[in-house]
Amino acid sequence: MMGYDYDLFTIGAGSGGVRASRMAARAGARVAVAEERFLGGTCVNVGCVPKKLFVYAAHYREDFADSAGFGWTVGDIAFDWATLRANKDAEIARLNKVYERLLHGAGVDILAGRATVIDPHTVEVALPEGPKRVTAERILIATGGRAVRPEEPGTDRAWISDDVFYAETLPKRLLVVGGGYIALEMASIFHGLGSEVTLTYRGPHPLRGFDDDVRTFVCDQLKAKGVKLHLNTKVMCLEEGDGGAIDAVYDHEEVETFDAALYAIGRRPNTEGLGLEAAGVTLNERGAVVVDDFYRSSVESIFALGDVTDRVQLTPVAIEEAMAFVATQFQDTPKTLDYAHIPTAVFSTPPLACVGLTEADAHDRYGDVHVYTSEFRPLKHTLSGSQERCFMKLVVEPKSDRVLGVHMVGADTPEIVQGFAVALKCGATKAQLDATVGLHPTAAEELVTMRERRPDE
Ligand SMILES: Cc1cc2nc3c(=O)[nH]c(=O)nc-3n(C[C@H](O)[C@H](O)[C@H](O)COP(=O)(O)OP(=O)(O)OC[C@H]3O[C@@H](n4cnc5c(N)ncnc54)[C@H](O)[C@@H]3O)c2cc1C
Repeated sequence: MMGYDYDLFTIGAGSGGVRASRMAARAGARVAVAEERFLGGTCVNVGCVPKKLFVYAAHYREDFADSAGFGWTVGDIAFDWATLRANKDAEIARLNKVYERLLHGAGVDILAGRATVIDPHTVEVALPEGPKRVTAERILIATGGRAVRPEEPGTDRAWISDDVFYAETLPKRLLVVGGGYIALEMASIFHGLGSEVTLTYRGPHPLRGFDDDVRTFVCDQLKAKGVKLHLNTKVMCLEEGDGGAIDAVYDHEEVETFDAALYAIGRRPNTEGLGLEAAGVTLNERGAVVVDDFYRSSVESIFALGDVTDRVQLTPVAIEEAMAFVATQFQDTPKTLDYAHIPTAVFSTPPLACVGLTEADAHDRYGDVHVYTSEFRPLKHTLSGSQERCFMKLVVEPKSDRVLGVHMVGADTPEIVQGFAVALKCGATKAQLDATVGLHPTAAEELVTMRERRPDE
């Protein structure tokens, strides 16, 4: 062990890499981390954090409109993209510094450059002064993922999600291509900020993997708010339109003109050119590092966690995996993560949040399940005049009475579902939800007062 420069060398200072490096160093290991782009990784720089700031910004449009029914007069409203971008940039720069301090404070060496794996114990980092080789007993691959770039003709001018955060101007007309959570969130953000948004998706329903009822409900809500949805539609190519505009040519030959186009068509593990295959690391067909329950790859000394393993691509998951990795490797307490009951949200307007199994998955696993649903107009909108509605769904296993899934669409549902995730993790039953006294007046109380099963059962 003493023969190596470090006990741990981490490639990538994102959610997983920073946590693993810090905690390993705090456990007494000699640690270095290489980062080629930005400290804090995707989440802090081009993911969760700036996105959520934009979600808040976008919501003001509805808040101003809603306030009239409560007696407020909000004069002329105007939105300035440059202000939002500058304030967001300043906050992200502050967070970058926080991450730097956290790493330095824990005694982690930061190497600012792209790293490649040379052999099972050697890494080369491309530093401004020239390449530097270091050795480590263990190498951790925490390089995350990257947005897939479109291949259709003319898409070289299109944005991927990273570009949205650095855009010079707010597009008047925006095309969003894709049906995943990032596509829906971006469509909601730009609609809220004042762009005319069209979302195209080649399948019949966006948000594959989420419960079918909430998928439909969110789409209906977005349509009602004025986001144009073209489902079962493929964009064949982008052409140059008049005055620098972008003409999108659809498969049914219609052409629509935009000022910007965003492709949110998925993310791929960041393993290209990392030297992993040559070092003997097995990758799957999508290029993800294949690991065992303790994040060890096919090479004894090389580990991987977070998005680069292409399992559950969420920040808290990368962080928990990092904690389990450090406990196993540096604290003598083998630990792995329980992937059941990971709550997740789509920060569309309105947002969707869920934990546990979808009705379809529950049905596949348990056969007949009991389903409770509720759809209503939230109290706030009785005065605001907004047509936004709320939807809630519980999926219950009849034999054990265990709640298998909670699915919600509506304001604050991500905040609500975090609490219900605790209940599901503890194995809550429907009877226990029924025995819980509601907190009135809230939307969340509906989840503990659903007595009638869905009528179609
Ligand atoms: C638009 C968007 C919105 C999102 N919203 C949410 C959300 O609301 N909630 C949520 O939980 N998750 C969200 N995510 C997902 C979340 O950001 C990721 O799951 C999380 O960042 C994964 O962490 P990670 O450590 O695996 O990788 P990352 O955070 O991606 O970090 C990887 C780091 O490795 C660096 N790197 C790569 N290759 C090298 C190399 N060869 N040498 C040196 N450095 C390298 C990269 O520059 C990067 O900094 C979002 C993602 C996107 C894109």
